[in-house]
Amino acid sequence: MLQTSIALNRVTESATIKMAQLSRELAAKGVKVISLSLGEPDFSSPDHIHQAAIDAINTGKYDSYSPVPGYMDLREAVCAKLQRDNNLAYKPENIVISTGAKQSLFNVFASFVNPGDEVIIPAPFWVSYPEQIKYCDGIPVYINTSVESGFKMTADQLEAAITPKTKFLVYSSPCNPTGAVYTRDELASFVAVLEKHPHVHVVSDEIYEFLNYEGKHVSIAEFPSMKDRTIVVNGQAKGFAMTGWRIGYIAAPAYIAKACDKFQGQVTSGTNSVAQRATIAALLGSLEPTYKMREAFKQRRNMVFELMKDIPGFKCGLPTGAFYLFPDISYYFGKSVNGQTIGNAEDFAMFLLNEAHVAAVSGDGFGAPDCIRFSYAASEENLKEAFRRIKEACARLV
Ligand code: PMP
Ligand code: GLU
Repeated sequence: MLQTSIALNRVTESATIKMAQLSRELAAKGVKVISLSLGEPDFSSPDHIHQAAIDAINTGKYDSYSPVPGYMDLREAVCAKLQRDNNLAYKPENIVISTGAKQSLFNVFASFVNPGDEVIIPAPFWVSYPEQIKYCDGIPVYINTSVESGFKMTADQLEAAITPKTKFLVYSSPCNPTGAVYTRDELASFVAVLEKHPHVHVVSDEIYEFLNYEGKHVSIAEFPSMKDRTIVVNGQAKGFAMTGWRIGYIAAPAYIAKACDKFQGQVTSGTNSVAQRATIAALLGSLEPTYKMREAFKQRRNMVFELMKDIPGFKCGLPTGAFYLFPDISYYFGKSVNGQTIGNAEDFAMFLLNEAHVAAVSGDGFGAPDCIRFSYAASEENLKEAFRRIKEACARLV
């Protein structure tokens, strides 16, 4: 039998994907599982996006390979979007379109991380950052935050984490899994630190840009001293309800885009042609559907936050972005039901799956072993029922 590679052995299975799979398996057995595990909008992609894909297919012009970094007019549309929404000026040579933001991130790490390079990741973080970095033989360096600090790192923590080996700082704002959003002032305090350490580059994951419930999105690339040191990562999955279309992109200095283009040219080539055509319509078309979804998510956020308050031992502040609740549930550690004791968040997630038939993701994979993640990208009816079941199941733990 073949041994898996040393690189793969360094990587842990994706906790989000694993839980989604477990919940699908239980549902296939006829159990009425409410899945709050995978972070994906429960809306369809807007009609004008569907129509653009249908039109593209019907022309018969998009059956061939596309250019590796994406169609030129799509890269122009991305530039127009970055100018319109983020006040950022880029040219098509700065843009690489990929098969989801997940690939965009991996392109960057695979193209620039050498063995022993350190990558600073404020925790909690999205599950795939450390694993992709470990695959590339880089070293994730974590900055711990807590519910009390709103799950936000401070400039002092950032300063303390930087060494001569630091290659990147990577974070998402709005954050998956905490929903935390860095303000302009907070970003400015990080910029003041980063200006002292010009060898550190930033991977700014902005895929939840449009799911910000309190203010306007700010990109660290808007700070003039950071533009040439930042790789903006974004994509269609969250703000446009296009998870399955698999379109992500970077905006970066041209030499970085060129490196990612070279890497992508050897692993996937240009991404799906029809999805690229649909993305042009998404980026240049009306944002009304996006704003409507944001409003629906905001209402659900308010609702689940209230429902959660009703459950003893769930500790978390009101998230300001994305579509996750990420409470600390360590109150339940050591409690039991039917001889089964909750030792950690993983046990708690399995308890909820088996006893309440609600799928959520343990915080371990996100670097927060006292927490659990619930995606509230589900119908109000399902959310109400899920939190009713959770409350009932938790009441049995003593
Ligand atoms: N970054 C974050 C923070 C995410 O939550 C996700 C999951 N959607 C991704 C990147 C990857 O997005 P995509 O589906 O475009 O690969
Ligand atoms: N990003 C989503 C999540 O965190 C989708 C799953 C994944 O790609 O990890 O649930």
